[in-house]
Amino acid sequence: MTSSPVLLGCIADDFTGATDLANMLVRGGMRTVQTIGVPRAPLDTPAQAVVVALKSRTVPRGEAIAESLAALAWLKSLGCKQFYFKYCSTFDSTDAGNIGPVADALMRELNTPFAIACPAFPENGRTVYRGNLFVGDLPLNESGMQNHPLTPMIDANLVRVLQRQTPTKVGLLRYDAVQRGVEAIAAARAALLEQGVGLAIADAISDQDLYTLGAACADDVLLTGGSGLALGLPGNFARAGLLPAAEDTEQLPAVDGLAAVLSGSCSRATQAQVEHWRSNGRPAFRIDPLALFAGEAVVDQAIAFAGQHLGREPVLFYATSAPEEVAAVQKQLGSAASGDLVEQALASIARRLRGAGVRHFVVAGGETSGAVVNALGVEALCIGPQIDPGVPCTVSLGASPLALALKSGNFGTVDFFSKALKLFKQLQELRR
Ligand code: ADP
Repeated sequence: MTSSPVLLGCIADDFTGATDLANMLVRGGMRTVQTIGVPRAPLDTPAQAVVVALKSRTVPRGEAIAESLAALAWLKSLGCKQFYFKYCSTFDSTDAGNIGPVADALMRELNTPFAIACPAFPENGRTVYRGNLFVGDLPLNESGMQNHPLTPMIDANLVRVLQRQTPTKVGLLRYDAVQRGVEAIAAARAALLEQGVGLAIADAISDQDLYTLGAACADDVLLTGGSGLALGLPGNFARAGLLPAAEDTEQLPAVDGLAAVLSGSCSRATQAQVEHWRSNGRPAFRIDPLALFAGEAVVDQAIAFAGQHLGREPVLFYATSAPEEVAAVQKQLGSAASGDLVEQALASIARRLRGAGVRHFVVAGGETSGAVVNALGVEALCIGPQIDPGVPCTVSLGASPLALALKSGNFGTVDFFSKALKLFKQLQELRR
């Protein structure tokens, strides 16, 4: 068991979203652990916040509810008294769910009649005003999200969007109240409750609004939102004297070993990062999905390439390609099959690299990160200092720890790979 009870238990509906939230909490001063799925065992490392990463955003509603309730039960067993349901800052969901149904199930289980719903994340351009979600200057339904393959967002009015997902009455906690502060929010909430509202979309257009909302929700048993709404929560615990003031929450254990980068993301930011690495003359091995499909010994070749370089410098293994190349491969092999082939190849390479002494891994891509972390048998991560917004350094818990930087596609500056590796090295030297 942990030495003192965990203060905040979080359930995230996807992997890199969980890391983003954990990063936010660590920056706010809470020692935070992220688990991959619901652990079978109790947590055996001290933490003030725990984030359970699920893959429940687009699975059938019943599965999302069952997984979220299992996560809740486990978090309750750690002593958590406050809970946070984390979803995407673009409110990714369909009319069939899963934000509304999961929020309902958590409210029922926690026996609470009311929860805030606020995906605002002003630092990343997501603001909510009069219940409408904006991405930069555009309403959600004009932001590109209307074309999302799995969760097309065709309505920017989140009161309407959420109401279509739940029988619970959805209302609006208006900007007028949020702007006036904690007491005005309390009065507005009381009025909403009186009208029978159970879930309230909260307006927020700045970090200050999120801090105010966080303070106003200090005693709520359940909050729901993007990672932005978590900004104000560490302050609540600190004011209540529950966070030791001088603790270095970003401290990670030392991890010695060789380093490698694995990239399965084809997002624009990752393409620039791969190009930057290669144009600096650093060793890079390209994974060709068609060669994998043809049964060529690509993984063996990759490991042989690693053998020529690893003792001296880190190697990049990448399947990252331009959109037209990806489209051509997908046309030939199908998108799920080609994605799977690449993920499995990178996962095998990761496993064999660990066998060769690699302990520092930088991974680009949300799905890719999931595949690599699974292949390496990682069950939980301790979250350390931020490398770039939304991406922290992490170290796996348990025997033979690994240092990991897991980056969702569009995150990170152009030199992200070397920046992450450098930070790992600094942490390693710091602990010597
Ligand atoms: P992101 O976070 O950028 O969306 P992901 O890892 O989540 O990255 O998704 C990228 C997907 O594309 C993975 O399934 C990966 O295996 C697949 N992929 C990577 N390179 C190629 C390629 N050259 N051709 C086809 N699919 C690819």
